[in-house]
Amino acid sequence: MRRLLTLCLLAVAITAVAAPARLEIKDLSDTIAWGHDTTGVRNTCTMIVVHSNYYAGRDRDRWDLQGCIDQFRRYDVAPHYMIDRRGAIYRLTPDSLVAWHAGESVLPGDTIAHLNYYSLGIEIINSKRHGPTVAQYRQLARLINELCARYDISHLMGHSDIAPKRKTDPWAFSWQRLEALLDERALRARDWTRR
Ligand SMILES: [Zn+2]
Repeated sequence: MRRLLTLCLLAVAITAVAAPARLEIKDLSDTIAWGHDTTGVRNTCTMIVVHSNYYAGRDRDRWDLQGCIDQFRRYDVAPHYMIDRRGAIYRLTPDSLVAWHAGESVLPGDTIAHLNYYSLGIEIINSKRHGPTVAQYRQLARLINELCARYDISHLMGHSDIAPKRKTDPWAFSWQRLEALLDERALRARDWTRR
């Protein structure tokens, strides 16, 4: 009996390891009618750009998701994904659409510009003083690993890498901490920084 129980427990353990929980993404893209190209041009999805943002008004908490979204609407911008302080992932724009998240931008060491047309933008809710939470690093890595498995991503970088004169985000961000959680494919996309 005890042997059977051990076997059962082993089977449960193996199943748990073999089938990691699916990455949950809350899809809000139906409610975001702005912040992307509407001419039918498709995103090549070959780069990932990491950003930081928070709600700058005083009437709501700075980590308020809706506040951040309302702020984007005011500027007619939007990322593809946003990750809140607890690590919940929201889709704001479908991957296939060109989203206005990078602005004027150039690939470092290259002449390729207008990187919105090539990239997926991920916003982390954090400030210059308060870096991403443990949950945000973990979920950001999971999202990046999943996107790198789905698309042929050649570059993984921060907004400040592609618009150094205008942008300083992602703020209070440790690439080392993120890289420790990335799989091989994602690390290859990150490799251009070491060349
Ligand atoms: Zn940014």
